[in-house]
Amino acid sequence: MRQEDYTVFPLPEDCLKMSVHMPRAYADGPGDKPETGHGLPPPALVKAYPVDLDPEFRDSLDKKFSFTRDGAICRVVGMKHGVSLWFDFRGLSDHPTHDVAVRVMVQDICALTGMPHEQFGMPLIQYRHRCPKHNEPFSPDLLCRFCGHRWPAQNYLSTADRNESGHPVAMRLNGFRDGKGRSRQFITTKGGEGRGIAEQILGNWRSFQFDISFTLSRKEKVRPPVSSYDHYDDDDATRGDPRKSSASTTEVEIAAGAVINHETGTDPNGIEYWNDDPAVLVRIYCMPEDELNALLAEYAERVGSQRSFLSGLKTGNRTC
Ligand SMILES: [Zn+2]
Repeated sequence: MRQEDYTVFPLPEDCLKMSVHMPRAYADGPGDKPETGHGLPPPALVKAYPVDLDPEFRDSLDKKFSFTRDGAICRVVGMKHGVSLWFDFRGLSDHPTHDVAVRVMVQDICALTGMPHEQFGMPLIQYRHRCPKHNEPFSPDLLCRFCGHRWPAQNYLSTADRNESGHPVAMRLNGFRDGKGRSRQFITTKGGEGRGIAEQILGNWRSFQFDISFTLSRKEKVRPPVSSYDHYDDDDATRGDPRKSSASTTEVEIAAGAVINHETGTDPNGIEYWNDDPAVLVRIYCMPEDELNALLAEYAERVGSQRSFLSGLKTGNRTC
């Protein structure tokens, strides 16, 4: 197997990168206590393999996912049930010249708004005045009286975002945004349990993938780059086994777990600050870890046999 670690995606646009983490899911005890929320989930890097490791690997995945070839960078990750998942986009703050906006669709549902995938592309949209579902004017805190939702100010995260105190916000997505602006941890559950968010909203229309778009600002950013990596303690990165959970059997669904006390920020710029089209699209297919491991083992065997000088020669010494 090629000696690549596959944990950080270098994307084909200067300085764009991301990674996926799967630490153990937070759990709240039983009872009627209110959910007070948890701190940021720790790092636990996972490998996201290119779908085109070799033609056979790709064909095996294609049978499962029916790839659409729309220019996205496609990776596949193996998941156990009962772990959490978060996306690390903090490296985007180091982009030397431009701000970067990121949209994340989870099984075709926007993680920030709950809206389904648009028919065309993944447009950046700001919600500042009217409810996108009801076209009703918002009350000052972006509350729509018809749906009763407090909407986010936008359907994307960006390196330009600021919190209420005017400070940069860490570029990480831990889960589905809740009505208080916090997030409910992405957790993996078995298909058929009925807890998957897309499973509940879209039913059979959902996919088994994450779609992520990266859009650059039209102009160069004016402030010096802020490295949000500085704000984090990554010492947890190697602490313990991040993924101990039950065996996987069927499909993996992404559900909304415990509350994480991490709020997204607001982009102070108008939408015209951003390019119309993403610079890069990433698609991450999710499959049960044991299924992916079986395909990787077959791939390793193929690659291993190709490397040997004995390939193609008569070998072995079977007695029957
Ligand atoms: Zn509404």
